[in-house]
Amino acid sequence: MAFVFDNTYARELADTYVPWKPVAVPQPRLLFLNRELAIELGLDAEALDGEELAPLFAGNVLPEGAEPLAQAYAGHQFGMFSPQLGDGRAVLLGEVIDRSGRRRDIALKGSGRTPFARGGDGKAAVGPMLREALIGEWMHAVGIPSTRALAVVATGEPVYREEPLPGAVLTRVASSHLRVGTLQFFAARGERDTLRRLVDYAIARHDPELVNEPHRYEALLRAVAARQARLVAQWMNVGFIHGVMNTDNMTLSGETIDYGPCAFLEAYDPATVFSSIDEAGRYAYANQPRIARWNLARLAETLVMLMADPDDEAAVKQAVARLIEAIDAFPALYEDALREGQRAKLGLPPGPSPDTAADAALADDWLAMLHAQRVDFTLAWRRLADAAQGDEAPLRALFTDFASLDAWLARWRARCAAGDGFARAQRMRRVNPWVIPRNHRVEEALSAAWREDDLAVFDALLAALREPFDESDAQAYYAEPASPESTAGYRTFCGT
Ligand code: AMP
Ligand code: MG
Repeated sequence: MAFVFDNTYARELADTYVPWKPVAVPQPRLLFLNRELAIELGLDAEALDGEELAPLFAGNVLPEGAEPLAQAYAGHQFGMFSPQLGDGRAVLLGEVIDRSGRRRDIALKGSGRTPFARGGDGKAAVGPMLREALIGEWMHAVGIPSTRALAVVATGEPVYREEPLPGAVLTRVASSHLRVGTLQFFAARGERDTLRRLVDYAIARHDPELVNEPHRYEALLRAVAARQARLVAQWMNVGFIHGVMNTDNMTLSGETIDYGPCAFLEAYDPATVFSSIDEAGRYAYANQPRIARWNLARLAETLVMLMADPDDEAAVKQAVARLIEAIDAFPALYEDALREGQRAKLGLPPGPSPDTAADAALADDWLAMLHAQRVDFTLAWRRLADAAQGDEAPLRALFTDFASLDAWLARWRARCAAGDGFARAQRMRRVNPWVIPRNHRVEEALSAAWREDDLAVFDALLAALREPFDESDAQAYYAEPASPESTAGYRTFCGT
């Protein structure tokens, strides 16, 4: 067991965190270990069966070279600014360079109170931590950038929520834990020098090609906007609802972070909200691209003070104009990413479209039809692949209004005209997952894990989620939609 740490954050940004150790737990027990990821991070396979893993991933034993710290950050939560959030129950152990040369953060979550804990207990429960592992692995399997779980350890002590729950610690791996809110923390305090070092650090880490750019801060905003545009487009194309897109939950790296209240669409409805605290639907499915742009504007606000002397009105104006231009580029970036994804999902020929407007209308009309007929989003795309190779019955079985379906299919076929239907179906099956983390299956697995201490259900679901495009009989159980009643009553909660 040996990570090779190289802790640039600890070394270079001493005034942006508090050195802090995880709190030891009474009875660490390994519930989940991500072997593939562990090996990617440079651990050797033999080390992965050792007894020392549970105390290590519980934070009881610090790996050599770790320099644990709690990061400061702020954030807009549901539109309201909180100047001080920070790692209230997490510590960054350090960074390792993985086998492909990428720098990765290794952090513990649920590892006890830190100076940022405010009223919180610093703990986490088994259910939400296993949930983060499940969804992150699926995201990874379908090619959506995500933070990932390396391990989940039960602590052997209860955490007190509405009821006592078994406690857990998650080991999270991320490209970095730099959030929009990390910059906001220092911008809000007017700590310009610290902010500059932090942003220069972020550029060196995520956009090294911009280091010597004359307009590097504006360029960073453009780079983050491009990554978030691609990310949110990917979310939309798999029916993912993040549920809590606060600025502290938006990374500069473009990885998905914070799986607290997330959930997936079943029947297609753009207004879908599952989070129990999102009463106004701010983070509803269809709002996600708008919210990403709103968050980018908050990021831009932090960058202004690095681009112009606050007392120089003309310079500030000019900087603001440049930043606004970068934010205004977001909708088109998003639209391009969304449409490209949709064209692939529809099985249209790869490469530039001869008529993007017509393709967009084809996708929009398909979605409108799914909405009107309350068709399961995931299955509809998957059954369209069957239709591409001439087997229309499974698709028709999902619909009730055949006239509109037939009219749409005629247009789709006309657009697909050239090429081999079988090859098209195969292509479609590589981008339209058959298995997603269905809310009812996720709850079933988590409930067995924390209520009965039975991990078999979780393990089986995880195995299914790791093969999301595989339409074999063994997977059928996981592809089954929930009943409309259970989906209508489904509520999620922020990562407790
Ligand atoms: P989250 O909802 O997980 O994005 O967390 C928002 C903020 O609340 C962050 O500052 C977290 O560190 C903090 N937080 C959430 N839960 C706890 C907890 N149980 N104890 C201490 N801090 C917490
Ligand atoms: Mg968070």
